[in-house]
Parts: sequence; C-alpha cells; structure tokens
Amino acid sequence: MAAYGSLNHRPDVVVLDPFAGSGATLVEAAKMGCRVIGYDINPVATLVQRQALAEWDHEALAEAFKDVESRVKAEIDSLHMTKDGEHVLYYLWVSTVACPLCPGGAPPIELFSRYIFAQHAYPKRYPAAQATCPQCHAVVAVDLSADTRFTCHDCRWSGSFDGPVAGATMTCSAGHRTKIIDALGGQPPRQRMYAKLVLTLDGGRRYDPIGEFDEQLYSRAEQLLTENADKIVMPCGRLDSGYNTRQALSWGYREWRQFFNARQLYSLGLLGAAVRDLPISPEREALAALFSGVLEFNNLF
Ligand SMILES: [Zn+2]
Ligand SMILES: [Zn+2]
Repeated sequence: MAAYGSLNHRPDVVVLDPFAGSGATLVEAAKMGCRVIGYDINPVATLVQRQALAEWDHEALAEAFKDVESRVKAEIDSLHMTKDGEHVLYYLWVSTVACPLCPGGAPPIELFSRYIFAQHAYPKRYPAAQATCPQCHAVVAVDLSADTRFTCHDCRWSGSFDGPVAGATMTCSAGHRTKIIDALGGQPPRQRMYAKLVLTLDGGRRYDPIGEFDEQLYSRAEQLLTENADKIVMPCGRLDSGYNTRQALSWGYREWRQFFNARQLYSLGLLGAAVRDLPISPEREALAALFSGVLEFNNLF
C-alpha cells in the first residue's frame, strides 16, 4: 500500500472488484492509473459506479440540466408557493390515525410525540424553537431553555410540549391508550399538512402555518395528478418483503406509490418525465441517477 496516495501511474495493473458497491475501490484505483473492472449484483450500484468513473462532458451535462429545468421548473414552483409569491421549501405533514376505542366521527389523533417541529441541532446553545398548536396549528415560537409548556397566541390553547405518541403507543384525548400499529388495522396512516418552511424574498427562512391558499394549492396538485397520471413518470409495483421494507409493510404500506403524496407524485412525475424524454445519452443517465437521489428526500417519511 506504499503506492496509496502517490501519483504513480500504473496502467499495467488491472484491479477487479467483484462486489464493487458504490465503487470506492474502483475510483481510487482508477485515480492511480490502473485499469479497473467492477461487478455488482445490484443494478443501482453499477449505475453509481458508471457515474463515478465516466469522463463527463460538463457542457453537455449543464445543457441537459437546463433542458429539464426549462420544461418543469415553472410548474413545480407554482405548486410550492405562498399567496404572496414566496417559494415554499417544505410542507410539513403529520400522520393521523383514528382511535379505535372512540366512537366513529371523533377527530383522528395526530401522531406527534412532541409539538416542537423545528429546533436547532444544539438546543442548549440555541434554544429558540417552533411548536405547532395541537388545536389550531398556529406556529408558536418557544424557548427550550425556559419553557416546558406553551400557550397558543391564536386560540389560547395551553399545554406541554408532549404529544399523544410515546414510543409505539398513542393516547387519545379521552385517555385511551392503543398501540399505533393495532389502530392502523393494516392501512397506512393518513396525513395532515400543518406547517410550511418559506424561503423569504430576502433569502431568509420562516415557518408559517397552513392557510386556505395552501389547502387549495394542494387540491390543485391532486387534480393535476389525476388528469396527468398517464403522461408523467409514476412509481409502480408493490413492496417486496426485505430488511429495508419490513417497517413500511408493518405500517400498512403495500405499493411504492404510497410513499408519496399527490403533490410529490405530480412534481416528481413531471421531473422524471422530463429526464425520460431527453435523448438517450450518458447525460440522461446522470440525471436519472440524480433524480433517484432526489426521491430519498422528497417522500412522506
Ligand atoms: Zn379514544
Ligand atoms: Zn392554537
């Protein structure tokens, strides 16, 4: 390993990695000038390896990106904005489930373990945080170093930071304690939108509650999805049982499509279709790989 990190050029050496994974060995060997051969049973792994080792035409890449952007940006942005025209970076949703011991028609339980939804990674040093009011979903500023309870400035609800969920169980307002999985009865939970993160016009960030405009915008996304589902790229297929899917299956998720809400399905579907419709090229494959990464951070989980 004396050669590691040196600038030796070793075209006489062939490195074979039959379980190449994300390709770290191949890439490091290629940097030293070796010829490399990699295999992996996972097609996503071999895709990533090709991405890591390809000699990219940066101009062609930038052009393909711009092409996709010009086709979808305006429409995706129009589904992620405030009524004043600011961009919304994220909508926050909470899972909900009905208490099986309460009479039908009782409001579902929102599965908050705490009503604090945004806080600094070091809350001791930076105690300013945001809570959602369980009664009216106002966004309430709280100080974690001083408060253990909070009062809503809108509806005057007052209570502790703790929500109805503790570990795997939930407690409804009538005091019934149930295991969440049992209450789900094999169906995935429903979702309720309760706040949003806004990119302000001067580049700052602000958490806002959900208003009528946001609800209507979401309904529009639902409608667009219904009208266009056959034109855009949609996740298909059912979940197979495996190490990474077991938890989702136990929560009642059966199809990949259920991992996304309507706005995500429509926005990602547009984006996926724009990548799909590029001419077949290495750039198209690169953008498909990037699209795959985007899915990891834009889903219900
Ligand atoms: Zn109950
Ligand atoms: Zn309130």
